[in-house]
Amino acid sequence: MGSLILGIIFSFLLGSALGSFVHCWAHRLYSGEGLRRPSYCPQCGKRLAWYDNIPIFSYLRLKGRCSSCHKKIPRDYFWSEFLGGSLLAIAFLAAWQKVGGEEGIWIAMHTVQGWLVVLQAIIGLVLLMLVFWTDYWWLSIFTRPLWIGGLVMIFVKWLAGGSLVNMVVGGLFGSLFFALQFWASKGQWIGEGDIYLGLFLGIWLGWPLIVPAIFGAYILGAIVGLSLIIMGQKKWTSKLPLGVFLVPSSWVFFLWGQQWWQSYLHLLGW
Ligand SMILES: [Zn+2]
Repeated sequence: MGSLILGIIFSFLLGSALGSFVHCWAHRLYSGEGLRRPSYCPQCGKRLAWYDNIPIFSYLRLKGRCSSCHKKIPRDYFWSEFLGGSLLAIAFLAAWQKVGGEEGIWIAMHTVQGWLVVLQAIIGLVLLMLVFWTDYWWLSIFTRPLWIGGLVMIFVKWLAGGSLVNMVVGGLFGSLFFALQFWASKGQWIGEGDIYLGLFLGIWLGWPLIVPAIFGAYILGAIVGLSLIIMGQKKWTSKLPLGVFLVPSSWVFFLWGQQWWQSYLHLLGW
């Protein structure tokens, strides 16, 4: 029980630091600023001391205000840390459940494969949160380098003993699914960015999990879209591209898809 709580706390801390970093990266990609400049207050530009830069803790301690100019720090600084931390903590819980608890986690932590799976989760999480925090239309230019993320993922999965055919088929399906719609509609239905996003997600999830992940994104999009219409927030629905829903859907299928797929095959009697 102790190591379960320890694992959750550690994953949350690591995830919130990642979330904070990715959020900063997303902002600096916009402004063309590099990552070299140390963290600073977005309002007054003052460089942050290390103790004012601890994810979540510093935000709460300073009550969401800069320690120097006392202006409000935008809420998404907090949410990026909270989201990153929660997602990685959930990933740890999913892994715990998958390997059968404490003993399984210990065994996995002593194998290279186990850490390569952790690396896959981290690469996926970083790229997904990057998608989440950037303006999606602008992102359609930026997502092109996602093919590099795809190559890194192929290498990591291959080292972990993954099947190359599985990754290539997944990546082809993910990218062609959106490329065909992009060409057929001359870019009206979906953005070019979805093609690159589909490629990366297809490699990450592999075949056949990319299929239900895309399907899940459409369902999620329909639910959110309908809810927004019911709440009278119609304006929002036109601004929500599919990619926004592909992100959480893929994460869910990365964590639980394999188990669901096996139960599904079992149900079919295969
Ligand atoms: Zn300030």
